[in-house]
Amino acid sequence: MRWNFDNSYARLPEAFFARVDPTPVHSPVLVLLNRPLADELGLDAEALQGPDAQQMLGGNLQGPGSAPIAQAYAGHQFGHFTLLGDGRAHLLGEHLAPDGRRVDIQLKGSGPTPYSRRGDGRAALGPMLREYLISEAMHGLGIPTTRSLAVVATGERVFREEALPGAVLTRVAGSHIRVGTFQYAAALDAGMDVPGQKRARTDGADTTRFTRALADYTLRRHYPELAERPTRYANLLDAVIDRQAALIANWMRVGFVHGVMNTDNMTLSGETIDYGPCAFMDHYDPATVFSSIDRQGRYAFANQARIGQWNLARLAETLLPLLHPEAETALAIAEEAIGRFPGRFSAHWHAVMRAKLGLANEEPGDEALGDELLEWMQRTGADYTNTFRDLCAPVAIASPASVNAAFGDPGFQAWHARWRERLDRQPGTPEAALQRMRATNPAVIARNHRVEAALAAAVETGDLGPARRLLGALTAPYDARLDDSEYRQPPAPEQRVYQTFCGT
Ligand code: AMP
Ligand code: MG
Repeated sequence: MRWNFDNSYARLPEAFFARVDPTPVHSPVLVLLNRPLADELGLDAEALQGPDAQQMLGGNLQGPGSAPIAQAYAGHQFGHFTLLGDGRAHLLGEHLAPDGRRVDIQLKGSGPTPYSRRGDGRAALGPMLREYLISEAMHGLGIPTTRSLAVVATGERVFREEALPGAVLTRVAGSHIRVGTFQYAAALDAGMDVPGQKRARTDGADTTRFTRALADYTLRRHYPELAERPTRYANLLDAVIDRQAALIANWMRVGFVHGVMNTDNMTLSGETIDYGPCAFMDHYDPATVFSSIDRQGRYAFANQARIGQWNLARLAETLLPLLHPEAETALAIAEEAIGRFPGRFSAHWHAVMRAKLGLANEEPGDEALGDELLEWMQRTGADYTNTFRDLCAPVAIASPASVNAAFGDPGFQAWHARWRERLDRQPGTPEAALQRMRATNPAVIARNHRVEAALAAAVETGDLGPARRLLGALTAPYDARLDDSEYRQPPAPEQRVYQTFCGT
């Protein structure tokens, strides 16, 4: 299969992980394989369809050079601190791709680990297909994300509210270092009683040992250009802040609601991770929440930047002892860094909105222009994705209502006239602006009702056809050939999905 494993994470202090093999499954059968990703990683896509690969990706067989571990981490879940860790995932190792990239190869749903608490270590087919579809949709949209290489059905049942077919997902990630991993390291350094690690810190020992080891590792792996600087830990914090600000603005570009932005679900690499109750918004509403357990709207669409900043403040806290030997100075450095987040996020968001509107240069009224369109969308219940995509149609310049009946609304017409004037004031033709807009406003997103229908076909009748067809559209979401696609249809009232559930 051409695996080229190296396991640098397992060279961190032992308290960061547990060596544990996946638990074999009854009869692993490959359900989906991501051939383009296999090619990208220098893997043999043919061999990955063979019997050995099914055994390996089902967790029954260790590939050469693989040394499975479960990673320890902590996290604030809905604001409450908990010790966590991979409770149903195994890092098989880091694969070194021919282009020099190092990626984690992780099985999810592969059996219990020392961090499982009361969980069974398993995953159901539906949620694993869901993660596959949505993570690949995000990649197709050009948004940093963990990827999905394969889904293998286990031939076993998992018991949730009902008996469901089990599956194992192969997740590919820049790494699985989370804000929660730093919280775990800081807990070790603080001498916190971590199960199985009671004597990780002995009295008189270096009280920054674990955090420093993890920060140095993260710098080498994701920010090598900063790794030698005297100010590297402050630079690390700053760099993560910027990647997260950009990421959240990018989510909002496509109407994505992550749904469970706990600190254990935020990466240091800046990749989107953990596709549990996430979903794409249909009609525009900043208060959109899908997750069944998010009753307060903590992780609502328009709250994501604020929560991102809160999570990053938790990261900053863990880095305090590394930022400066004087506690007060360290705190000032951290506060300044966190204080920069809103400005960074706004800059990214305004750039996103200018791109969505085809604006090539900056004018003082641009923010208001974007906000007014959003207000119109909210007032009229307009579809977020289709409003922007329909604006990209060449005929929409002269006669918008011929593209989208809702554009006949007088409120929209007034906005449209201002937008046209704005386009006329900038260099370049309106056609060139529309061209650029089509590269940032997707025709197709992973609409929940289509995702749910595809999962139902797979789980209830074993029919992978709808999932494969949907995936085909999601991997090229800006393609003009999709402008008339059925996947652009918003849900009919009876098709609306109001709630999504954590990936169980
Ligand atoms: P998540 O909500 O997916 O971010 O998961 C939170 C924590 O619960 C992580 O530590 C997971 O590994 C763990 N977890 C979720 N489902 C299971 C399961 N079925 N068995 C064991 N641990 C689980
Ligand atoms: Mg998680």
